[in-house]
Amino acid sequence: MQSSRRRHSCLVPVVLIGLLPGCSSPSAQPAQSSRQPPAAAVNPITVDSTEEQIRQAVATARVGRKLTPKTWPNGARVAVCLSFDVDNELLQRANPLPVPLSVGEYGATTSVPRILDLLDRHQVPATFFIPAMGVMLHPEMVPAILARRRHEIGVHGWVHEFWPSIGDTAKEQRLLAQSIEYLTKATGKRPAGVRAPSSGFGPQTFDLIRKAGFLYDSSLLAADEPYEIVSKGQPSGVIELPISEVGNDYVYYGETANGSLPSPDAVFEIYKAEFDLAFQERTMFILTQHPHVGGRRSRIVQLDRLITYIKSKRDIWFATMEQVANYVKQPRS
Ligand SMILES: [Zn+2]
Repeated sequence: MQSSRRRHSCLVPVVLIGLLPGCSSPSAQPAQSSRQPPAAAVNPITVDSTEEQIRQAVATARVGRKLTPKTWPNGARVAVCLSFDVDNELLQRANPLPVPLSVGEYGATTSVPRILDLLDRHQVPATFFIPAMGVMLHPEMVPAILARRRHEIGVHGWVHEFWPSIGDTAKEQRLLAQSIEYLTKATGKRPAGVRAPSSGFGPQTFDLIRKAGFLYDSSLLAADEPYEIVSKGQPSGVIELPISEVGNDYVYYGETANGSLPSPDAVFEIYKAEFDLAFQERTMFILTQHPHVGGRRSRIVQLDRLITYIKSKRDIWFATMEQVANYVKQPRS
């Protein structure tokens, strides 16, 4: 996704693709942090593009069938997914010095246990997307998450690499395969879902995700409800559980996690409004948090408040993303 607020791609002959202002997108990097290599070049849409060229340019991963069921399990009005991108130190790949690394390390040592405690208190499930090498650096996270018997672990790259910049389809495929294999060994279960690091989809990424057999992806932003991804005009069979910028802690707090503006109270109000309309629309609410960002004290207090608010409503289905994808995939009359 293009971040037009901060980038002026119109000044260069190629566009950068797959950038969500969130975990480690170049636009979100502070000076001390890593910078992603340039994204793959794709043909831009220009005033001279033909209709066919414009169609092809947007055809990789589009909204297909909407998959919100008439009712969620047990008559629930809305499905609620709490998701955590456990990036930790791997956002500092280009600058692995002790101080920036410690910002990410906080995510593993302090935030993940704090988040798990919070989820325990509320008895709700969550989905954790973890880069394979993040598991290597903090292997204790996996048994801690799995011991709760409610949570899901999904793929989030090998070292949180930015897929559009790899520029080699075979290598990208290899990285995806070894990420799946690593998580499968670490968790004892093949991951059902994937979230692209930094929402980085290259031209071939969706094809690789489909071929890898994922039940669902959660990287795109094209709707507020589940849908089937259509690729190059064909239904793909892959379910998208779309995220959003407004449901992402990163866009408010940034990476360094050293400030409190905007006020966490204001962020709570945004999340609450997002949930309220999801509840009215009877669809789905997905929150995307990063432990080293949203797991800071003043911020997790607001997450606690949000979960308490959601639970005060009747007919809520808290679920992992895998549970939601499996539910919407079932054929219904
Ligand atoms: Zn990430």
